Amino acid sequence: MKSIRDIAVDNKTVFVRVDYNLPMDDEGNITDDNRILATLDMIRYLRDKGARLILASHLGRPNGVRDDKFSLLPAASRLSELLETQVQFVDDCIGQTVKERVSALENGQILMLENLRFYNEEKKNDPTFAASLAELCDVYVNNAFAVSHRDQASVTGITTHVKEAAAGFLLEKEVRSYYDSVENPKRPLVAVIGGAKVSSKLAALENMLNFVDRMVIGGAMANTFLKSQGVDTKGSMIESDLLDTAADIIRKAGEKGIELLLPMDLVAAAAFDKDASYRVVACNEMPDEWMALDIGPKTAKSYAEAIADAGTIVWNGPMGVFEMERFRNGTQIVADAIAGSRGFSVVGGGDTGLAAKICGIADKVSYISTGGGAFLHMMEGKKLPGVAALE
Ligand code: AMP
Repeated sequence: MKSIRDIAVDNKTVFVRVDYNLPMDDEGNITDDNRILATLDMIRYLRDKGARLILASHLGRPNGVRDDKFSLLPAASRLSELLETQVQFVDDCIGQTVKERVSALENGQILMLENLRFYNEEKKNDPTFAASLAELCDVYVNNAFAVSHRDQASVTGITTHVKEAAAGFLLEKEVRSYYDSVENPKRPLVAVIGGAKVSSKLAALENMLNFVDRMVIGGAMANTFLKSQGVDTKGSMIESDLLDTAADIIRKAGEKGIELLLPMDLVAAAAFDKDASYRVVACNEMPDEWMALDIGPKTAKSYAEAIADAGTIVWNGPMGVFEMERFRNGTQIVADAIAGSRGFSVVGGGDTGLAAKICGIADKVSYISTGGGAFLHMMEGKKLPGVAALE
């Protein structure tokens, strides 16, 4: 993967694909600008080198329709404030007006384009649309790790039409942090896997069996694993069609000498509700119709112990419904153990990144990914299309 550091960018027009898919409130105010903050070093570097910058992103799901609700104008304003410099904005991402605005740019100036997904062609990776984006620039930079698992015009398609294409700082950092953790890990390598469904993480679980030393499983997916071993967690979320698959993963882990830890106790709740009655039960003592919404304290303690001596930790998925305070304890204890460990710790994005923040450990881990889907894609052992396109 070519790095932007290896390309002379002075006096060139550089198209940077960023991920400014920012959370906004109903009035269009940005509620979390982390995704902008994650790109500032890249933008400052290019600006200081004398490039003319074009920034492009998607925001939300406008489904090919122009809709002010999904405009990137607030992102341009926020970026202006953060950089203390003017960030220009144009209300389209291709076409004559955009071309004119790009030609008028001076070295060091920045122009943000309007939402790429106002065109369906973006998601469809339409070659003509990709060529229209490419036409705007001399150099293409992918600095949008979070969309790099997508085969879309501004991620992959554009690279076939530009003279030079390279990875931006954020993409490099993401890919390096992940591969540093799994390819040459300090051992023991511990995978902490949780979240809602086995099905969405099946490929990742299977791939992890190739290199982890220990795996701790929590969240709703633990219920399916428990059931596959004959432990019925009653009204809990269970994927009945995956019982054999779960049993198979447990068997394979055993064959490979991987320690696979499942819950021994659970927090049982009467309903999926933040105020639901709840109590700690052994896994095989779940009251009828109740559901497990967190791992129990004994389990959390044993998982924390399994994490304590880790040389490397990869965490993807909360241990329970961490969004509800009552069911956050397991995730909190595991998060604290990860933060307290001396191992290199990589945390998957999406819900896991949010859980790390809510648990107050975001600045105590080695790296939190900015991309949920893209991180999972790497955990599955698959190459990111956005990375492959730069090779
Ligand atoms: P994922 O995106 O697969 O990592 O899943 C994250 C979601 O799983 C979070 O929103 C959690 O609330 C949810 N979750 C975790 N544990 C449970 C559980 N025991 N029952 C239901 N949902 C859960």
